[in-house]
Order: sequence, then structure tokens, then C-alpha cells
Amino acid sequence: MAQATENLTAADSTIFGQLSKFDHEQMVFCNDNATGLKAIICIHNTVLGPGLGGTRFYNYANETDAITDVLRLARGMSFKSSIAGLNLGGAKAVIMGDPNKLKSEAFFRKFGRFIENLNGKYITAEDVGTTIKDMEYIKMETDSVVGLSENRGGGGDPSPVTAFGVYMGMKASAKETWGSDSLSGKRIAVQGIGKVGEHLVSYLTKEGAKVYIADVNQESLARVSKEHKAEIVAKDSIYGLDVDIFAPCAMGAVLNTENINQLKVSIICGAANNQLADEVTHGQLISSKNINYAPDFLVNSGGIINVYSELVGYNREIAYAQTENIYQQTLEIYRKAKEDKTTTHQAALTIAQKRIHDYAKVKSTY
Ligand code: NAD
Repeated sequence: MAQATENLTAADSTIFGQLSKFDHEQMVFCNDNATGLKAIICIHNTVLGPGLGGTRFYNYANETDAITDVLRLARGMSFKSSIAGLNLGGAKAVIMGDPNKLKSEAFFRKFGRFIENLNGKYITAEDVGTTIKDMEYIKMETDSVVGLSENRGGGGDPSPVTAFGVYMGMKASAKETWGSDSLSGKRIAVQGIGKVGEHLVSYLTKEGAKVYIADVNQESLARVSKEHKAEIVAKDSIYGLDVDIFAPCAMGAVLNTENINQLKVSIICGAANNQLADEVTHGQLISSKNINYAPDFLVNSGGIINVYSELVGYNREIAYAQTENIYQQTLEIYRKAKEDKTTTHQAALTIAQKRIHDYAKVKSTY
């Protein structure tokens, strides 16, 4: 979470200063002494629909880090849902504290009560530090929760759908870069072989790519390497590998000046949220190195497409079909970035912001 405090200047260090910087609508602080719950729900924008975004449970160093993180994550959700064409706004929640010490049924039911009090304006889901079981406790108090297990009418783990979307974005990036979307024979480095990364590795090796994997979890590395015939590389050497594609599927803000300058790849396309440590500086640095960057919030939108499907009646086939559109959308982003002479990240952001802006005018008629 080192990125949590970046870009925070004295001028926007008040809560309202930070809310107004990127036009966030609402921030709700939830405190419960009995269970130890300390949560912050942040709603960035609800023009397209209720704000949907997961609940992150993390032992933040301080309140400032938690607030900065939830502001950044909520805004990211607005653009992710917008570009995916969903009728959803952007929001996120963070819970401060040690998940291993604090979790209980009462804890999550209390949090569910706070969500219920927002009358549907915020819908939660799983995120780092929370599980399907936690969502089921929340569900006992509110219907404003998705990402439930299949036997409870939910869509189950969205990670396989997310991985499929990243795969589609990667194939489109290959088409843009080499004229063919085949990944056969391409050398691809996957950083993080967790819930999404492993599914991605599976797609890639099945297509005949040579896949290199890095993770901090040695057990996962040994298992995934064996099951998918992927080659293990040291965690810190992954940026400098002589490969064609880098797929960040672990944590955010990995694309900083130092790491980008080590990359020898032609494409960056992965699942991690907020990959660019700084949207402008690092988007431009990647572009100046002639690397095709598939914007994270577009290519990893399969997960939100899958959980959105729960709100309208879950259908896995439809979720996959919608996620397949990421292929065409990624190609469109490359085209628009060239046309606008801008970075792919900015091109994607422009499309996402335009949809919100346009729909705000439609809404104003009643
Ligand atoms: P996960 O926790 O299952 O997997 C993350 C993996 O990264 C773990 O195996 C972890 O050990 C590894 N890791 C942590 N630090 C690392 C490091 N320094 N170097 C290499 N590996 C490291 O998470 P996930 O659900 O697979 O999500 C991966 C990323 O994709 C996250 O950034 C997440 O926010 C994003 N994302 C996930 C989904 C989804 O559907 N799960 C949807 C959208 C975005």
C-alpha cells in the first residue's frame, strides 16, 4: 500500500479537499466499538447507477492511508464500470485493522447494517482481505452485496472471468503489435499467480506461449509451474526478463520509473488494479518506450461484469460473452490513443468519462 499516500499534498489534505479533487460524492465513516469495526465507504459517482466496489480489509498504517486508498479505488471503479458499459457507478469500502484478529459474524453483520442504511446507493463485494463467507454475513443484513457463492444464487469467484478478459486484452494487444492475435510461441512473464494469475497462465500455456511466473508464495509457484509447465523466475528479476509481454497480476503501482526502465517487452497487459504508479508520468514513459499498454481497468473488468450479472439475474454465459468484448474495446483504445496522440490509459479514461458525462445529461430530464 505504499502508493496510498502519493499525490497527497497539503492543499488537498482535508477530507473535503480530497473529495473535491476528483469530485467524489460521499464518504461514510462507520464505527462500532462492540465489534471493533472501523470502515470507510466512499462513493465516487452514481450517475450510471449505484456505486459498486468491493470491501478491502487491510491493516493500514493510519487513517490517511485508508482514506487515500478508498478515494483512489472508488474513482477507479467508476471508470471500470463505465468502460464496461454497465449501469453502475463507482464506490469502494475499506475496513481498517487486522482481518485475522477482527473478523466475526457480528463484525460483518454490523458492517452490513451500515451498507443497508445507504439504501442501495452502495453495493459491496469481495476484495483483498475479504471472502465469500464475509459477504454471506453481510447478506444477512442487506441485499446490497454481490459476489456470493453459486449455491446462494451468486456467480461465485469472479477471478476466472477476470482472467478471460485479460486474455482477450492480451490477444488484442498482440494483434495491434504484431498483426496477429496468436500468442503461440510468445514469451510471457506473469507476476502473481493468485486467483486471476493462475487462470491466465492456463489460457496462455494452452495456446502455446512460453510462460514465466513469479510470486512470493513458493508453494503456489511449485504447483502452478508443475500443472501448467511454466518456468519459475525470481520475484525481482521479472522486470528485466527478455520476454514479449509483461502481465502484472499481483499488486498495484508496479509500473514506476525504475521498473518500466527495466522492461524489454512490447506489451503490458495484466489484471492488477492501478498498475501505473502515476497515471500521467508512467503512462507517458511506457508510451515513449513504444510499449503497448492495455489499460488495467479495461482488461480486468471481467470481474465486475460477472458480479453485475448477479444484480440482473446471474448468467455465466452472458458474463463471458460480455467479457469477450474486451478484445474489440482494447483495439479501439489503441486506435483512439493514436488518433488523440495520447496514452492508452488516457484514451480509455476519456471514453469512460464521456459515458458518465453524456448519461448525466440524459438523467437530468426527470
Ligand atoms: P490474489 O491475492 O489471489 O493473487 C495475488 C498473487 O500475487 C498472490 O499469489 C500473491 O502471493 C502474489 N504476490 C503478492 N506480492 C507479490 C510480489 N511482490 N511479486 C509477485 N507476486 C506477488 O489476487 P487476485 O484475485 O488474483 O488479483 C490479482 C490482482 O488483480 C489484484 O491487483 C486485484 O486487485 C486485481 N483484480 C482482481 C480481480 C478478480 O476478479 N480477482 C478483478 C479485477 C482486478
